[in-house]
Amino acid sequence: MSLLDIHVLGSPVLRQETRPVETVTDELRRLVDDMFETMHAAKGIGLAAPQVGRVERLFVADVDDHAIAVFNPEIVSPEGNAKAEEGCLSIPEVYGDVERATHLVLRGLDRDGKPFELAATDLMARCIQHETDHLHGRLFLDYLGVFKRRSAMAKWEREKAKYPALRRTLISARDLAEQHNEEAL
Ligand SMILES: [Zn+2]
Repeated sequence: MSLLDIHVLGSPVLRQETRPVETVTDELRRLVDDMFETMHAAKGIGLAAPQVGRVERLFVADVDDHAIAVFNPEIVSPEGNAKAEEGCLSIPEVYGDVERATHLVLRGLDRDGKPFELAATDLMARCIQHETDHLHGRLFLDYLGVFKRRSAMAKWEREKAKYPALRRTLISARDLAEQHNEEAL
């Protein structure tokens, strides 16, 4: 497994429509593993393929120890409504309140390419909506009102200086531990 760079706001791939996956290949299963590793290293609860520069319709999520990988996700019968703060691994340090359905059914293909259905509520439902949006070029910022969006963008203007190549490179826990050992020497 390997850590992937995360594309940040400004990278065109984040605004691209993804392509449905016809067949789940071994290469795509490796991508799923790498996306899980990357998401965990970044301390996120969801990660969509465009965020690692890919155009396949795929996301991974891990909410309350329930991990899912979904190809070609579709949201059916969304219900309820709640506003809560969201962030995004592609827009570090920027947050905003977004209204989302509280209950939904997710349909898609699992990592073996088998169709499945999952009834999700609350944080998992929110995460599924956020990640599915990524697969259609939508970001949580798009839901903010004019003023909130403006202040979020002002914050991002300061943050984005840290990412001149529009990529976030993560360090794994193992590498971090090694680095600290070297420093200790
Ligand atoms: Zn996101």
